[in-house]
Order: sequence, then structure tokens, then C-alpha cells
Amino acid sequence: MFQRSLPGFIEVVCGSMFSGKTEELVRRLKRAQIGRQKVQAFKPAIDTRYSADHVQSHDANRIQAQPVYRAREILARVGNNTRVVGIDEAQFFDEEIVEVAQTLAYRGIRVIVAGLDMDFLGEPFGPMPRLLSVAESVTKLQAICMVCGSPASRSQRLTGDSASRVQVGAKEMYEARCRFCHEPNVVEQEQLSSSILMEDPQASQSPETGRA
Ligand SMILES: [Zn+2]
Repeated sequence: MFQRSLPGFIEVVCGSMFSGKTEELVRRLKRAQIGRQKVQAFKPAIDTRYSADHVQSHDANRIQAQPVYRAREILARVGNNTRVVGIDEAQFFDEEIVEVAQTLAYRGIRVIVAGLDMDFLGEPFGPMPRLLSVAESVTKLQAICMVCGSPASRSQRLTGDSASRVQVGAKEMYEARCRFCHEPNVVEQEQLSSSILMEDPQASQSPETGRA
């Protein structure tokens, strides 16, 4: 069979919680497997929501994934024949994940990275901004806002310790929200007993004036 040189590149699949990132990652990896390409998947060891050695989406599509503690471990674990590398929950990796993805791509590997682009405050999450910058392809998925039904880009934390944005294993503590229904500082505002914009009776008629 004619063997041509392999073009390596980086694809990022990002979005809020419940936007289907892992499902999309698994779909792409499965298609690569159907194409008889050797696939390896990795996830941060911190993510223990589901079984430790699988990338699992809600519809129980599963792909063997190796949990790693540091991004650089991925380089050592990728085999010579591997053509496609999937990385899930990339927002929890250290900044080295960017160099790891770049190195793999230069080796001719297709790298598919899935992760939260924003934390529950609506701020860029960990190494994701740099991954988005260096990627050849970016897919930004949206969920459905649990308040108004619009497409949702934000992850709303409903309760919990606001000091830590690494809170895994408690998806019921979050829901997807659109930009306008998202209340990033709801926990802090409750603690400070300050008025929350959308709950201020004088601002309820016109949220815009409430921002002044
Ligand atoms: Zn909404």
C-alpha cells in the first residue's frame, strides 16, 4: 500500500458542561478506529466521575483511556503506531499539555482535545485558551440553558465551595446557562449579602439599568 507522510494536527472540542464534548470526542475516536487507525485516549487522573480507565460519555459510549497525573506522561505513553490521540477534560491538565499536543502533532499524530473552555465564573479555563490558539480546528459546542431554553455557553455552579474551580464528581451541582442567565458570582454574592443584579426588584424591569 502506498504510504504517504502523515499530517499531524490539533483539533479542539470545547464548550460548557452538558454540551456533548466527550460524546463528540468519542465519536471522532470511534470513526478513526473504524478507519483502522490506532487510537489512544488520555484523561487527567483527577477525573474520577466514571470508571478510571475509560473516556465515557453519557450514552455509555466508551473508549479505553489512560489516566495520567502530568501532561508530559502522555508523551511517554503514546506508542509508535498510534495515529490518533484523544485527550479528555484537558482543562484540568497543567500548561504543559499545550507543548505535549504540539509535539504529538509534529510527530504526525492527529490530536483531539476536549475540554471546558470556561470555568463556572465564565473565565478561560487553565490551558484551554492556548490550546484553542494553536489548534488547526476548533469546535465549540453549546448546551441548552436550563433557565430560558436558549443555546448555553456557560456552566452555572448551583452550590458549593467557590474558592476551588476544580470540582469533579458532582455534575448535579452544575447546570448549563446562556450568557444572560449565567450568574458567575452567585455564591460570593450570597456570602457578602450584596444585591444580586437579577434579584434587585428595581432592576427586574430592566436588567440593563441594573448594571450601572
Ligand atoms: Zn438563558
